Amino acid sequence: MIDFETPVGIQKQVDLIHNVAVQVMRPISRKYDEHEHDRPWEYINVMWKSGANAGFRGKPAKEVDTGTGESVMKYRYVLLMHTIEALSWGDAGLYLSTPGGGLGGAAIEAVGTPDQKERFLRRFSEGDPKWGAMAMTEPQAGSDTANIRTTARLSEDGKEWILNGEKIFVTSGYMAGEQSPGLIVVWATVDPKAGRAGMKSFVVESGTPGMKVVRLEKKHGIRASDTAAINFTDCRIPFDNILGSPEVSQSREGNKGFAGAMKTFDSTRPGVAASAIGIARASVDYVKEHLEKNGVPVRYDLPYHKQSAVLRDVLRMEAQLRAAWLLVLRAAWQMDAGISNSMEASMSKAKAGEAVTWITQKAVEILGPEGYSCKNLAEKWMRDAKINDLYEGTGQINRLIVARRLLGYSSKELQ
Ligand SMILES: Cc1cc2nc3c(=O)[nH]c(=O)nc-3n(C[C@H](O)[C@H](O)[C@H](O)COP(=O)(O)OP(=O)(O)OC[C@H]3O[C@@H](n4cnc5c(N)ncnc54)[C@H](O)[C@@H]3O)c2cc1C
Repeated sequence: MIDFETPVGIQKQVDLIHNVAVQVMRPISRKYDEHEHDRPWEYINVMWKSGANAGFRGKPAKEVDTGTGESVMKYRYVLLMHTIEALSWGDAGLYLSTPGGGLGGAAIEAVGTPDQKERFLRRFSEGDPKWGAMAMTEPQAGSDTANIRTTARLSEDGKEWILNGEKIFVTSGYMAGEQSPGLIVVWATVDPKAGRAGMKSFVVESGTPGMKVVRLEKKHGIRASDTAAINFTDCRIPFDNILGSPEVSQSREGNKGFAGAMKTFDSTRPGVAASAIGIARASVDYVKEHLEKNGVPVRYDLPYHKQSAVLRDVLRMEAQLRAAWLLVLRAAWQMDAGISNSMEASMSKAKAGEAVTWITQKAVEILGPEGYSCKNLAEKWMRDAKINDLYEGTGQINRLIVARRLLGYSSKELQ
């Protein structure tokens, strides 16, 4: 049964994260917005040393380490959503810089063998800060993932894969690829004629010859997060670094590699939604504080039709926020319960992406010039918000996924 109470163990972690958000993130939020390609070490070191990044480390096959004890393990993803939300309330760009497995770790968790999980994920709990990333998008392939042109061919002795291609917009690509003993999960085709059946994912460890970060993007928002373009030129990796089976087959069974890799998004899309909600809550909190300071407190004791226009807007913002958050909790609870959640993951992401875009714009509107000014963070939250409606499937793509699932259409039947 789904439970709406926040378990005590989770609340403790949320309180801890809230302190990090207030004391570490907010004071440097504007600094890293203005210095996009500087790395926020003051935040990274706090997260790594305190273990507050426990939920981002990935779960090695033989180890369970949440940093909060056995009792909350059954709420692992719910805990993660609360953590992401609270960090993104602090600063969404900084949250994305949190050391840990990131999307790369999530991909390995979703489809890696026990040996691969052990081999690749353990590093996120040891030594100095490290990052994982996932490189799927290419100049001609974003929403249309089946259009990927990066190739992986077997070496003559069959012991290595050789990767060639160009990847763009890789979150934490620089930190994972060049700064630390991190890793990047790279999507490539082993047979360009085979379409989706030929698509596989591969783990490339940082420092592997042939992998090069060629550009860092300058962005509209989430500027504390590094977003890299990465080239692969005859990049050789061990045969065992393929995630899933190397077989190419058009059968359902043979296509498991692609479907398995897409499963990564079942856990990460609710995470994007949770981040959106953290930003939206930051905006709502700020607007309410501002109105209260100006003698217009929110009146929860009055019916909607007796509220002023501005307070009706605030109530609508809060209602959107709650609705989106409940969808996130449902998708995360399903993950924890081992229930298939692809549709609910997309629902939460589509709803939260749209809600945060609307809420943060509304906040700037209500605040007027104060909202447009860089003296506070409202305009920044509006810029940070939009990415949540874009990456890991745009709003349109996630709505398409929901429609397919609801109506029982395949991706060929409903495009
Ligand atoms: C800051 C940032 C970080 C990112 N991080 C990563 C990362 O870590 N790893 C990674 O692999 N990628 C990453 N991406 C890429 C991101 O996932 C893609 O940009 C996104 O999936 C959209 O793909 P696209 O850019 O090719 O846009 P397109 O697919 O060209 O879409 C353009 C527009 O067309 C719409 N559209 C496309 N197809 C359809 C359809 N069938 N029906 C209706 N509308 C449609 C889209 O919704 C969108 O509005 C990142 C992008 C950004 C901006």
